Amino acid sequence: MKLLMIAEHDNHVLKSSNQSVLTAATQLSSTIDCLVIGYHCLPIIEKIKKFNSIREVIVCSSENYEHQLAENTSELIASVAKNYDYVLSPATTFGKNLLPRVAALLDVAMISDVIQIISPDTFVRPIYAGNALATVMSDDKIKVLTIRTSAFAPMSMKDQHSAKIQELTHSIPNLTCRWISQELTESKRPELTSAKIIVSGGRGLKSAANFKLLETLADTLGAAMGASRAAVDAGFAPNDYQVGQTGKIVAPDLYIAIGISGAIQHIAGMKESKVIVAINSDPDAPIFQLADYGLVGDLFKILPELQTELKKATASI
Ligand code: FAD
Repeated sequence: MKLLMIAEHDNHVLKSSNQSVLTAATQLSSTIDCLVIGYHCLPIIEKIKKFNSIREVIVCSSENYEHQLAENTSELIASVAKNYDYVLSPATTFGKNLLPRVAALLDVAMISDVIQIISPDTFVRPIYAGNALATVMSDDKIKVLTIRTSAFAPMSMKDQHSAKIQELTHSIPNLTCRWISQELTESKRPELTSAKIIVSGGRGLKSAANFKLLETLADTLGAAMGASRAAVDAGFAPNDYQVGQTGKIVAPDLYIAIGISGAIQHIAGMKESKVIVAINSDPDAPIFQLADYGLVGDLFKILPELQTELKKATASI
């Protein structure tokens, strides 16, 4: 059984999501190759070849792939994937953008958001916003899977390992669309999907200016910032902060939900968090049914008090 994983990166940084995909990959195959598609992405190749479960790194570097647009990148993946039994990528925006197209080009089913591998052809994935788990069996010749990264522990790399490198010169131009620009949220805080602590805000914060109150708390705790969809839709927080069914799926050690009611679509994205703290003025808010610790009260009173106590606690360490 041969497995092809598609590396998620931005030509400079290899995303931590790949390490969880590798853990899932080793449960399916002992012949794992990694396809790196990009442009001037040497730092990625140098890093990925050190993961000892990777046999070969297949590199396709071309100006045509600089921004990894799904239209031509999926064609390339489908052509390489024909020699494999599995194609895996993380169930992040990167994988969700690419792999359904790859599955369609290969004329096989797309198996999304896998959280457990039962056997070589049977997988578990959440459905109905995580309210039910489906066990799916596939007899497709090539199985195309996206992996929920929070469900698989990240694999560490071994410095002494060095996988073989194979270069592909095959470059497919993008004839249907072109990259114009992108706006990225620059942040020194940890990345949302791999953060150990997340401070997340909802509509209860009432404005974008108030949402900034969470930044001090996040920085004191070394946390990433998250948000409910209502907060994002209201313009309080950027789109890539969104946690939930249509946002990011997270499973940190500590998730602090502030002014978030706990709608099922939000819960779907954070319920695997190890400890959940909720701050809400409504004692009947659904988030309290899930929370390990609940503070009932006005967040605008509680937040400054919490901040003062945390400062005292961190100063005494
Ligand atoms: P609200 O539900 O309005 O809750 C605000 C909370 O703040 C209330 O509980 C209130 O008591 C509390 N509050 C108000 N003032 C204060 C105060 N001063 N102090 C303390 N507490 C206060 N939502 C997501 O989050 N992520 C998703 O990915 C997502 N995907 C969706 C997909 C679909 C198909 C649909 C239909 C919906 C989706 N939603 C998603 C939206 C979801 O249904 C809810 O509308 C949303 O999560 C509500 O956000 P909220 O909790 O911030 O707002």
